[in-house]
Amino acid sequence: MPDGTKDLPVSALRRDLAAAYRLIALEGMDDSIYTHISARLPDGPEGEKRFLLNPYGLRFDEVTASNLVTVDETGTVVDDPYGSGVNAAGFTIHSAVHMARHDAVCVLHTHTVAGVAVSSVKEGVLPLNQWSAQFHNRIAFHDYEGIALDLAERERIVTDLGQKYVMLLRNHGVLVLGRSVGEAVTYAMNLERSCRAQIAALGMGLTPVVLSEGIAEHTARQYENAYDSIHQNGRDPEWDAMLRRLDRAAPGYKD
Ligand SMILES: [Zn+2]
Repeated sequence: MPDGTKDLPVSALRRDLAAAYRLIALEGMDDSIYTHISARLPDGPEGEKRFLLNPYGLRFDEVTASNLVTVDETGTVVDDPYGSGVNAAGFTIHSAVHMARHDAVCVLHTHTVAGVAVSSVKEGVLPLNQWSAQFHNRIAFHDYEGIALDLAERERIVTDLGQKYVMLLRNHGVLVLGRSVGEAVTYAMNLERSCRAQIAALGMGLTPVVLSEGIAEHTARQYENAYDSIHQNGRDPEWDAMLRRLDRAAPGYKD
């Protein structure tokens, strides 16, 4: 499987992950001190699995490159510069996904009003616009079982996810995976726009025009090719632009 963490220095991964927290906060997609964005560090010398996570109790707009916590696959803290630990229960979903999907560098989970709303209807994301067409036939579903503390649920989450990059957690929120932090943030933002646009379109009381299967699939493949090309050449102009936005709006993320 491709390993997107091999080429990126840990310092750049920490910067990117801190940027992801700040961007999600700037977009109003955070939920108090809850939900997580995690990144997989390169394996240790003995093959140890290590992940970066936000310190417990901090808002997303307080996360910096240097206060990120390093945990192992059980959520046990390995390094904690800020000293508040992590929400180990909240990491259970992330660790399960990271251990099953080594192609994912970043796992991003949100509870936004639009994402929760669309996750709560049977049809999920409809191919109503260009944002949502990219996810056509590419969204997994996981039914709600209560707050995800049950270790047995981890296996069901991984089975439900399969090889997809996006999952609607029914009645709960969304989960996206990225081969880089930037890719995960891009998926999350495009999915959020899809959900907001769907709610707006269906709220007008007029007749929605749903894209045909053929056009929606064609569009999804176009997006896939574009994401693959960015991943292969290692240059992501959209992510660079988002980092420049943060350099102006919240430069402290790099500290
Ligand atoms: Zn959640």
